[in-house]
Amino acid sequence: MSLKIYNTLTNEKELFVPIHPGKVGIYLCGPTVYKESHIGHAVGPVIFDAFKRFLCYKGFKVMLIVNITDVDDKIIDQAAAENCNVRELAERITRQYLDAMAQLGVTGIDQMPKASEHIPDIINLIERLINKGSAYVSGGDVYFDVMRFESYGKLSNRKMEDQTGRREVLGQGKRHPNDFALWKSAKPTEPAEVGFDSPWGRGRPGWHIECSAMSMKYLGDTFDIHGGGMDLIFPHHENEIAQSECCTGKNFAKYWMHNGLTRFNTKKVSKSDPEMQRAMEKMTLSHLLNTYGGEMLRFFILSTHYRRPIEFSDTEMESKQKSLNGFYRLFDRLERLTSHSPYDEKQPTLHKPQVEIYPEKHHAFIQDILVMRNEYLDMLDDDFNTAGAIGTLFKYSNSINRFLDQNQAETIQDETVRFLALSAARSLVEDARVLGLFVEKPPKTSDHAPDHLREDLIGLLVRLRADAKKDKNFALADRIRNELSTLGISLVDHPGGTQWTFADR
Ligand SMILES: [Zn+2]
Repeated sequence: MSLKIYNTLTNEKELFVPIHPGKVGIYLCGPTVYKESHIGHAVGPVIFDAFKRFLCYKGFKVMLIVNITDVDDKIIDQAAAENCNVRELAERITRQYLDAMAQLGVTGIDQMPKASEHIPDIINLIERLINKGSAYVSGGDVYFDVMRFESYGKLSNRKMEDQTGRREVLGQGKRHPNDFALWKSAKPTEPAEVGFDSPWGRGRPGWHIECSAMSMKYLGDTFDIHGGGMDLIFPHHENEIAQSECCTGKNFAKYWMHNGLTRFNTKKVSKSDPEMQRAMEKMTLSHLLNTYGGEMLRFFILSTHYRRPIEFSDTEMESKQKSLNGFYRLFDRLERLTSHSPYDEKQPTLHKPQVEIYPEKHHAFIQDILVMRNEYLDMLDDDFNTAGAIGTLFKYSNSINRFLDQNQAETIQDETVRFLALSAARSLVEDARVLGLFVEKPPKTSDHAPDHLREDLIGLLVRLRADAKKDKNFALADRIRNELSTLGISLVDHPGGTQWTFADR
C-alpha cells in the first residue's frame, strides 16, 4: 500500500507524492519559549519525529525543521513578570525544551532555527513583499495587505467577508482589519535586547513572517509538508501561505498536516485557584517525564490518531502504563525462556520463506505474525494511523503469549517453540521501532517485576502437580488444580504435559 495523508488544504486523504522523488521536506511550527513546556508541546514533535522515522523506513530522505520562536510578546511579558533578561529567559526555556525532546526520543529534527538568529532573512522577505506591493509601512510598523492575496482563506476555508463582518477596530494605521504585522516597531517600555535594526527603524518581526522566512530558507520556496497543531490553521498558517505565495508566486507547502490538541480532564476552575495551579504543574513535561519516563509519554501520544484530540488524565496515563508494561512483561518472559532479549538486533525476525522449515503445527502462528506485520505497515500508510498500528502491536503480543501458553513453554523444553516466539517478538520490536518505540531496553521496574514471580510460581505448582500424579498422589494433584482454578488459572492436560492459562487472557 502507498502512503496516504489527510491534507487540510484539500480536506481529503491524498496519495503522498513528494515534490522531488525520494526526498521529503517537513516544517513543523515549534514552541514559543516563554514558560515551561507542558504535555501539549510534546505532541507535534513526537508525531512528526515518528512520521519522519516511518518515511525513512520507506526509503525517503527526510529533512525535518522545527523552529524556536524566541522573539514574541509573551516572552517579553513573562520576562517582565520574572524580572529577568528576555534573552536569558528564552535560552533557559529552550534548554528545558531540548532536554525534554531528548528524553522523548525525538532525535529526527535536523535543524531548530531561532527567529532571533534569522532577522536578516526575515527583513529580506518583508522588503520583497513591500516591493511587490503586498505589504505597506505604517509608522515604524509593516503590515501585510490581505486584500492583495486573492486566495486568502483557502486553508481555513474562511471567506474574507466573514472576517470583515467581525468589525475589528482599525488601529495602528491598518488598511483592513485582517492585515497583520510583519514588523513591529520597538516600544519605549520594551527592554533593549528585544529590538533589532531594520530599514523601518528598531523593532522586531511578527510571528507569522518568521515561519515563512525560516521554512523557505531551509526547504525552498515550495516544500512537501507543513505541520502544526489545529489551533494554528487560522490565522498563523493562513498568513504564512499569504506571505510566502505573494512573495514567490509559487505554491508554498504541498500538504498541510494538523495534529489534534490536548484536552485536560480537570475540573474547570479559575487559573489563580491553587488546585488549578497544581493541576497545571502536573502537566509540565518535566514532571511527566520524571513520573512516567520518555517512552511511556511517547507511547501515550502515539496511542491516539494524530488528528484526534488527546485526552489527558491520570486515569488515562495509568491505563497506558499498564498496556506498556504488558509488552515489557512479554519481552522479559522471552528473555527468561531463551536467555536472549527481543531488543537484541542480532536475533532473527520472522520472514515469509521461513514458514516451511518449521513443523506444520506452528504454521498458523507464523502466518498470523506475518499478517500482522503487513497490517501494521498498512495502518501507518493510512494517514499515519499510529493508534491502529499500536493496536496491531497488542495483537502481536497476545498472539505470542498465547503461543507460549499453548505450548507450555515454561514447563516443556521445546527449542523450536521458544525460538519462534523470540523471533516473533523480535519482529514486534523491529516494527515498533519504526515509530521510535522499544528502541532501548527499559530499566527493570518494580511495576512489572511481580508478574515474573507470578508466572514462575504457577509453573512451579504445575510441575509439582505432575510429580504428584507420577507418585499416584491424585488427591494432591486435584487439590493443586482446584485451588489454581479458584485463583483464575485453568489447567488443561495434554499427552505432552499440562497447559495453563489465565482466565482473563
Ligand atoms: Zn509557524
